[in-house]
Amino acid sequence: MRSAAVVSWPRCEDAMSPLRRLLPPSVYHHSYSPPWPPTHRFPMWKFHDLALQLLKDQLVTAWEDFVMPQPLQEEWIFLAHEEDYYRRFCSDTLDPAALRRIGFAQRPDHRQLVARTCWEAAGTLTCAREALKVGMAGHCAGGTHHAHRAWGSGYTVLNDLAITAKVLLQEKAVSKILICDLDVHQGDGTAEILQDEPRAFTMSVHCKENFPFGFKGLSHLGHDRSDLDVALPKGLGDEEYLATIFEHLQGALEDVRPELVLYDAGVDIHVEDDLGNLCISWKGLRRREEMVLELCTAKGVPVAFVIGGGYHRKRPHLTRRHAAVFHAASAIWRTRG
Ligand SMILES: [Zn+2]
Repeated sequence: MRSAAVVSWPRCEDAMSPLRRLLPPSVYHHSYSPPWPPTHRFPMWKFHDLALQLLKDQLVTAWEDFVMPQPLQEEWIFLAHEEDYYRRFCSDTLDPAALRRIGFAQRPDHRQLVARTCWEAAGTLTCAREALKVGMAGHCAGGTHHAHRAWGSGYTVLNDLAITAKVLLQEKAVSKILICDLDVHQGDGTAEILQDEPRAFTMSVHCKENFPFGFKGLSHLGHDRSDLDVALPKGLGDEEYLATIFEHLQGALEDVRPELVLYDAGVDIHVEDDLGNLCISWKGLRRREEMVLELCTAKGVPVAFVIGGGYHRKRPHLTRRHAAVFHAASAIWRTRG
């Protein structure tokens, strides 16, 4: 297991500085990939691998190019989560069953898990703030969409998308947000937390034969409804998938008229993903990223993207898939005047 690099992070406020010509502001924190059991299904290494990949691909030229998350205030977390749940997680007093439900019972160091969880949620909020400043921003983590108000689930503890939406709405930084969740799994936690928030429109396009649906004995799962849920059949291929997304995202942008899009670019739609049940090719994945970012920018809507889910034991394959949205963002970014 490669350990995450520890570097000092001068904050570059000027998103159009020469260091940022190739990529919109991109958020990363060295805590994202703590030491982790190598056999664990959740690929905790992927965040650091992705940052390295962006350096290797020369989309960023130095670690200092990454934007460091601004820390979360605790009261921001409580806009989306029950205080008791958060405090029990931080103090490592959650019921063992609650940790198993999250999928992180097997964690080497709880304090490092708490730190990376909080920094990850902070990173998505920072990413959204950057997008509001310059039109587009990315996060080398995020998309923790199964986390509910009072419990975690599916490898997610705090819901970065819901926290970000709640904070920006409370601050009146925006009056309407669209969460476009294209991870192969339904964004059930986001749907639950934001169900009574009319200023946040939750859209989830997912495979209907995937978590959180249809798990025998797990009666708490599968009941949450987004404002728009599009449940795709198992095995769907590129053409129908891309046409479905185009239709629904274009419709949502026109109907909702958001002032910000939070885009969960989960890559577990890929045909070779260990957990997904769709058949989207590498070409189809790259086309999705271009299409989503182009649709948002064509409408003049700031877009903040997070990487979401992706599961594959071959590290370079998964890293390359997560890097696709950054390459798509770079292509658009470089054409800006
Ligand atoms: Zn997923």
